Amino acid sequence: MSSVLQLARPDLLDLEPYAHAAWVPSLERLHANESPWRTLGDNSAAGLNRYPEPQPRALIARLAELYAVEQDRLLVGRGSDEAIDLLVRAFCRAERDSVMIFPPTFGMYSVAARIQGASVVEVPLAADPRFELDVSAALDQWRPGIKILFVCSPNNPTGTLFDRAAVERLCAALAGKALVVIDEAYIEFAAAPSCSQWLNRFPHLVVLRTLSKAFALAGARCGTLIGEPALVQLLRRMIPPYAMPAPTVDAALKALEAPSRAIAHGRIDLVLAERERVARTLAELSIVRRVWPSAANFLLVSFADAEAVLRAGIAAGLLVRDVRRQPGLGDCLRITIGTPEQNDRLIDAARRA
Ligand SMILES: *Cc1c(COP(=O)(O)O)cnc(C)c1O
Repeated sequence: MSSVLQLARPDLLDLEPYAHAAWVPSLERLHANESPWRTLGDNSAAGLNRYPEPQPRALIARLAELYAVEQDRLLVGRGSDEAIDLLVRAFCRAERDSVMIFPPTFGMYSVAARIQGASVVEVPLAADPRFELDVSAALDQWRPGIKILFVCSPNNPTGTLFDRAAVERLCAALAGKALVVIDEAYIEFAAAPSCSQWLNRFPHLVVLRTLSKAFALAGARCGTLIGEPALVQLLRRMIPPYAMPAPTVDAALKALEAPSRAIAHGRIDLVLAERERVARTLAELSIVRRVWPSAANFLLVSFADAEAVLRAGIAAGLLVRDVRRQPGLGDCLRITIGTPEQNDRLIDAARRA
């Protein structure tokens, strides 16, 4: 048995998946109780009257190429959120096992854990000087039963790209002990390669990627889990049988064609330039205490009066994320980089606040 499966819930290892209708595109389908006719206005490639391909091969091939990994390492799902949920359910026994998170961080890790009845061990990031991962503290607090560590890098909401050597040290120390999940939802905005380069060295490493941010497909819901083939096999048996809606697959395939990819890369460059400009401009305002360094498409900003900035933003027709309830972020707002015009309006609002 693959070492990573030794960490999974033993009761799931022989799970018989739902037997979904066979996928044989060369034959006409009288085996899935579908309607043989399309609904009005259905211009989709496969026809919305048909159940979709469970793990669409064409999409997996394109994603494998995009992320430079083998196809049998990929699971596609409805956003990275689905992968987070599947991982917690596959590895954590209710009321016995736990996950480790590094707050302030993305909220879905602890929500998924709570739904599964897994407890959450928190190892806070070291705010001084820049919300860095504390690997020694993580290893000190790790104990058997902590099945998954969720490492979000670049981290939401702080924007921190964690020190690569530190993440590598964490992976090396936990080999055979816990799954290390690196959530790279924002990696396209960072000047760093993906940790999926390490997959051959670390079978317990999982990398999460998404088309929601840099590829402008948040509404389509398409995320990818990259990991050990044996782990991917287990999760493919657990994921709901027709998880990927046909319109999502069509939209993702379109977004991965060369012209859309060229546009996406141009927009990433624009976001990076705007991130620098907004950071520099905000840092000069007296209401701004600190603009945290960001490797993502947003900025975490500490304000002398965050409430006033929030209100001024709303008056200017702009919503920014209030993160003040998160540990260590009592005076912070998270501001997504928008169009240059939106960014100008946001800066004006902060100036007026
Ligand atoms: C936005 C975000 C995601 C969600 O991605 P989906 O693919 O849209 O589910 C995952 N992780 C982090 C840290 C995010 O900020």
